[in-house]
Amino acid sequence: MRYQLRCRECHKTWGNVPQSVCEDCFSPLEVFYDYDSLAQVFTREKIAQGPPNIWRYSALLPLPENFQPNLPVGFTPLVKAPALARTLGAKNLYLKNDAVCLPTLSFKDRVVAVALANARSFGFDTVSCSSTGNLANATAAQAARHGFKCWIFIPADLEPAKILGTQVFGAKLVRIAGSYDQVNRLCSQIADEHHWGFVNVNLRPYYAEGSKTFGYEIAEQLGWRLPDNVVCPMAGGSLITKIKKAFDELIRLKLVEPKPVKFFGAQATGCSPISTAVKLGNTDIEPQKPATIARSLAIGNPADGHYAIQTITASGGFSEDVSDAEVVRSIQLLAEKEGIFTETAGGVTVGCARKLYQSDRILPDETTVLAITGNGLKTTDVLTGEYEAEQPIAPKLAEFNRYVESAFEEREVVNA
Ligand SMILES: *Cc1c(COP(=O)(O)O)cnc(C)c1O
Ligand SMILES: [Zn+2]
Repeated sequence: MRYQLRCRECHKTWGNVPQSVCEDCFSPLEVFYDYDSLAQVFTREKIAQGPPNIWRYSALLPLPENFQPNLPVGFTPLVKAPALARTLGAKNLYLKNDAVCLPTLSFKDRVVAVALANARSFGFDTVSCSSTGNLANATAAQAARHGFKCWIFIPADLEPAKILGTQVFGAKLVRIAGSYDQVNRLCSQIADEHHWGFVNVNLRPYYAEGSKTFGYEIAEQLGWRLPDNVVCPMAGGSLITKIKKAFDELIRLKLVEPKPVKFFGAQATGCSPISTAVKLGNTDIEPQKPATIARSLAIGNPADGHYAIQTITASGGFSEDVSDAEVVRSIQLLAEKEGIFTETAGGVTVGCARKLYQSDRILPDETTVLAITGNGLKTTDVLTGEYEAEQPIAPKLAEFNRYVESAFEEREVVNA
């Protein structure tokens, strides 16, 4: 067996089954690989020959024997951000831009791709998830592409673009009058009764492995080097732990030089159970009731919170949080400086990065990657009222010249 599920705590192995918790000790299960057999298969050369998407890393993903990928996902740009860097007091700053991940413009496309590859082999004809929005979009789109029936469960008051961006794929959308944490609990109960593949419940160990591709890509795009720091937004806390797992695997398989990487978490102050625990020096989460515009990160009781705390503190990193007003300002800053329009989660990341540079937890010369995980077109409602709707002018050159003059006069008044 190339890979199988293993308990994170008692290390008992469970084969490959749609199950996320160890029946002996109730700890989470994780996919574990036979790394010795992988050293020949997972080389820089083999990866370079692969397709320009996440399937180039198939040897280190839990994919059934006969799986044939037919949807290009991932391999998003890693870009230098010199103008943003100057504003933040940084010198060596990169953005990993999953605002343009395909097919649905968030990093959740990665996790769903791996989960659905397994849903078929486990015999599910219906796939499902509980979601704060982006996972709903990714699951609905890929279910359509692969011919699964699809049921999506969301808190009733999500952003309109995320609701529409689920329904358009023909998924059955169930709005729940409650928080994400309540939606998720309900989904665990439904998963016990219906033979459905819930990507983030019974398929969760496979789903989570998809996040590793975010880390593999960073290393490959840096020229098979690891960065000094990664700043990562956190909801359930899975992505940040899986970037760490990806880097550890690359070191173990000798694709990169061993090097310590610091992991920095980012949350909105209105839902910051992981950042709060890190700041207090706690090893476990105190659940919170979310109140923030960063809806994609609004998980008050994060499933991987304990492991996210461990990843951050063991690396010598830290976790920050920012107010909703700072989230909006940071969305604008990233757009104006680098031409990238991110959603609220990206605003959280940029805002927290600013604080981390200000407090010298990240030093200017260090190579630092910010994880931009979602697209701003999905959360335009948070910018309502930020920009004036200008009066239209007649389609005449004279009118335009008058308009320019008055714009200059306004500026002079402001500068006076
Ligand atoms: C889900 C999500 C995250 C956080 O992912 P976790 O693995 O749950 O911590 C970050 N950014 C965006 C845009 C998301 O949708
Ligand atoms: Zn166990």
